[in-house]
Amino acid sequence: MKFIGAHVSASGGVENAVLRAVEINANAFALFTKNQRQWKAPALKAETVQKFKTFCKQYHFSPEQILPHDSYLINLGHPTTEGLEKSRTAFIDEMQRCDQLGLKLLNLHPGSHLQQIPEIDCLKRIAESINIAHEQVPNVVAVIENTAGQGSNLGWHFEHLAEIITHIKDKSRVGVCLDTCHTFSAGYDISTLTACEYTFEQFANTVGFQYLRGMHLNGSKTPLGSRVDRHDCLQAGTIGTDVFAYIMQDSRFDNIPLILETINPTIWKDEISWLRSLEKC
Ligand SMILES: [Zn+2]
Ligand SMILES: [Zn+2]
Repeated sequence: MKFIGAHVSASGGVENAVLRAVEINANAFALFTKNQRQWKAPALKAETVQKFKTFCKQYHFSPEQILPHDSYLINLGHPTTEGLEKSRTAFIDEMQRCDQLGLKLLNLHPGSHLQQIPEIDCLKRIAESINIAHEQVPNVVAVIENTAGQGSNLGWHFEHLAEIITHIKDKSRVGVCLDTCHTFSAGYDISTLTACEYTFEQFANTVGFQYLRGMHLNGSKTPLGSRVDRHDCLQAGTIGTDVFAYIMQDSRFDNIPLILETINPTIWKDEISWLRSLEKC
C-alpha cells in the first residue's frame, strides 16, 4: 500500500497536524513536533499527547505512516565541541518528543562540516551522535535524509549515507529518506524511467532498500547536479513526472511515508490524488 501525504503545519498543537492531513485526503504526514527554528521548546503537555494519539487512532494513522522532521538548526556533524553538544542535546529532545507521541521515525538532515573538518570525520560524528541518541531514547528510528549538497552539507552522495550507517551500532534503528528534489540536485538523474532504473539501482547497491524508511516527493526548480535545494510542485520544474509514476508503481516504495514538501499547500490535495491516479496507470 502507498502511504501518501504532506508535511503539514502543527500550529496550534501537534494534534492539529493529524486533522490537516485528513483534510487533504492523506494517509501519511510529516510534522515538526516543536518550532523548527528555535533551539528550545516547552515540553509537550500530557493533554496534547493524548489528543494526538486519539486523533491518530480515530483517523487510522499508524506510526509507520508518520514521519516527524527535526529542527533545521541541528548539525549532528558539527566541527566544534560546543556546537556538537548543543545539537546532540536538541536531537535527543526531538527523539524523546517522538517517543512520547508514540512515533517510531525521526527524519533528520545529516550535518555539515562547515569547511572545518574532513568529510569522513564529519560523517563519523553524525553516526556517533545517532549512537548517543539511541542510548538515551528507546524505539525511535533515525531516518537520515539525503541532501542536495548545498554548501558543506553532507549526505548528498549515497556513499555518505552508507558510511554513516556503517558506524551505527543498532542498525535496526537507522534508515534513510530520499528526497526526489535533493537526489536530482545532487546529480542523480531521475528525469526518465531509464534514469530512475539506473539511479535506484545505484541506491540499492550502495545503501540498500532495506534502509529506505521514507521519501520526500518534490519537484525541483534547479537543474540536475546544481547542488541547490529549491523545491517545486510535482508537475512543474526540472525533473519531469516520470519519477513519480515510477515510484507509485514500484512495490519497493510501499508502506513507507511518501511526503510532499512542495511549494503550494493549496494544491496538496490535488497532488495527492494525481499521485494516486499514477498507481493505476
Ligand atoms: Zn526533504
Ligand atoms: Zn529540500
